[in-house]
Amino acid sequence: MADLKELYQEQILDHSKNPRNFRKLEPADRTALGRNPLCGDQFTVYLRMEGDRIAEIGFEGQGCAISKSSASMMTVAVKGKTEDEAERLFDRFHDLVTGKEADPESLGKLAVFRGVSEFPIRVKCASLSWHTLKAALEAKGSVSME
Ligand code: ZN
Repeated sequence: MADLKELYQEQILDHSKNPRNFRKLEPADRTALGRNPLCGDQFTVYLRMEGDRIAEIGFEGQGCAISKSSASMMTVAVKGKTEDEAERLFDRFHDLVTGKEADPESLGKLAVFRGVSEFPIRVKCASLSWHTLKAALEAKGSVSME
């Protein structure tokens, strides 16, 4: 189990140091700003849509290693997916970080975040970018994790 934990930490460090899709999309069809005041995490998510499919996704901002790596992995996970698929994945990710997901391994790399369910404050860090994605898809503009 110790090895597995180290592996998870490595993936989180890798994505926080070298975030994927870490760029502003210009032009973007939809954007949203997400803030987690408790930790100081703040990210903007940019989407370019083709019909109801997320053709391109980017994000900018700053935050702790958990929030940044989660945002990075979120962009990789939802790129190319339809809105419905992305929202279903959001629901499963939310179950994962709140300890309700029955089969974490089926979520692939996202499973690294199941450990945060033991730390309620970290749940907000890990799910911030997903809430921001949802706000962008629903054209809500911004979301705050207060
Ligand atoms: Zn944070």
